[in-house]
Amino acid sequence: MNKSEQLFEQAKNTIPGGVNSPVRAFNGVGGTPCFIKKADGAYMYDANDKKYIDYVGSWGPMILGHNHPKIKQAVIETAENGLSFGAPTELEIIMAEKVKAIVPSMEKLRMVSSGTEATMSAIRLARGYTGRDKILKFEGCYHGHADSLLVKAGSGALTMGVPNSPGIPEDFAKHTLTVSFNNLEEVKEVFASIGDEIACIIVEPVAGNMNCIPPVEGFLQGLRDICDQYASVLIFDEVMTGFRVALGGAQEHYTITPDLTTLGKVIGGGMPVGAFGGKREIMDYIAPVGPVYQAGTLSGNPIAMAAGLAALNEMSTQDLHTDLAAKTKQLALGFKAAADKHKIALSVNYVGAMFGFFFTEEPIVTTYKQATECDAQRFKLFYHMMLDEGVYLAPSAFEASFLSTAHSAQDIQATIDAAERCFEKLAN
Ligand code: PLP
Repeated sequence: MNKSEQLFEQAKNTIPGGVNSPVRAFNGVGGTPCFIKKADGAYMYDANDKKYIDYVGSWGPMILGHNHPKIKQAVIETAENGLSFGAPTELEIIMAEKVKAIVPSMEKLRMVSSGTEATMSAIRLARGYTGRDKILKFEGCYHGHADSLLVKAGSGALTMGVPNSPGIPEDFAKHTLTVSFNNLEEVKEVFASIGDEIACIIVEPVAGNMNCIPPVEGFLQGLRDICDQYASVLIFDEVMTGFRVALGGAQEHYTITPDLTTLGKVIGGGMPVGAFGGKREIMDYIAPVGPVYQAGTLSGNPIAMAAGLAALNEMSTQDLHTDLAAKTKQLALGFKAAADKHKIALSVNYVGAMFGFFFTEEPIVTTYKQATECDAQRFKLFYHMMLDEGVYLAPSAFEASFLSTAHSAQDIQATIDAAERCFEKLAN
C-alpha cells in the first residue's frame, strides 16, 4: 500500500467515505484519491511525493497558482492582528469596493463563507424581493448543496422538480423547476405558463459542472429578456466563471448584465469565501435594512478578505486574462490534435481559463444530454494514465478543468505530450 492508500483507509474510519466533499473520493474515476501534502505554483505533491501539473486548482481558486507569495504574505500579516472579530472591519469595505470596481453590476454585495451560502442567500433574496416561491434552474448546472438547488428535472419541463438527495422534502423541491441548458424554447414555454410565479432564473453562464459547456449564441441574452418581461430576477452563478473567463467574469465576456451575481472560490484566494450582490434596490431587501434575513458569524473574515484582496489586486493590476485564455486554447487544441492523430474521437470546449474535453463523436457539445452520453469508461482509463504521467485533472468527466497564470508554456507542452502518449495507448 502506498501512503495515499494508507491514508484513505485510515480516513474512512472517521470521515464518511474518507473525504470532506464527495468528488474527492474519486468515485467518478475509481481508484484511490491522491492525498496532497503541498502545492506550489502549477504543481501539487502527493503523500508519496509524486509531483503533478495541477489543472484543478482547488476547483478554481488558484487562478494565480498555488501558494502565491503575495497572498501568503497578506494572510500572515493580517493574522498578526487576530483571526476573527464578529464586528465590521475596514478590509470588508475595501473588498466590497474592489469587487464592485471589477464587476460593476454588483452595486452592493455581501460576503459569505462559501459558494453554497452565496447561491442559497441570493435565492432567498430573489424570493423575498419578488414575493414569489418558484425558481428555475438548468439540468447539469450545480449551484451548491442548498435544498432548493439539489433538485433534478421532473419528466417534462412543466412538471415539478424531484429531490436529488434524500433529506430534501418533496414539498420543497416542487418549487424548483429544471429545464435544459442552452434551450431557450423550454424556458419560454415554462414562463408562458407560470412566469408570474417565478422569482428567479439561476444559471451558470458557462456550465462548469457538466464538464465545460459554454452558452450558445443568444442563450444568455434570451434569459435576460425573459426575466425583464416577467419581472423575475436573473442570477448569474459566477462561482466558477468569476474572475476566470474574464476579469469581470462571464457577464463581462458575454456583455449581459444579471440582476444578482454569486461569487466564490477565486474571491478568497484559497480561503473559504463567497459573495452575492447586484442591484442596489434588490440588495437593500436584506437585513438589517430590509426584511429578508441573511447572516454569518465568519462572513467577511479578515484573513479571508486579505487573501481575496491580494488575489484580486494582483489580477486587476495587469492583463493576465489574455494570456490565460491563449494558454487554455493552446492546451485544449493540443489535446484535440493529439487525439486526432491517434483517431480518438474527442471534442473540446474552452472559454477564458476553463476547458473541458469529451470522449465523443459529436463535433461540438452544447447540451447536458450530449455530456452524459460521452464514453465514461474511456475517460476513466485516460484519467489514470494521465495521473501516472504526473498530470492531475478533475477526477470526474463532469467537471471543467482550470488553468492558472503559473502554468508555463513548458507545462502546457508537457501536458499535451503526456496526453498524446495516453491517446496512443487508448487507441491500441
Ligand atoms: N456554484 C457553482 C457554479 C459551483 O461550481 C459551486 C461549487 O463547485 C458552488 C456554487 C458551490 O460552492 P461551494 O462548494 O463553495 O459551496
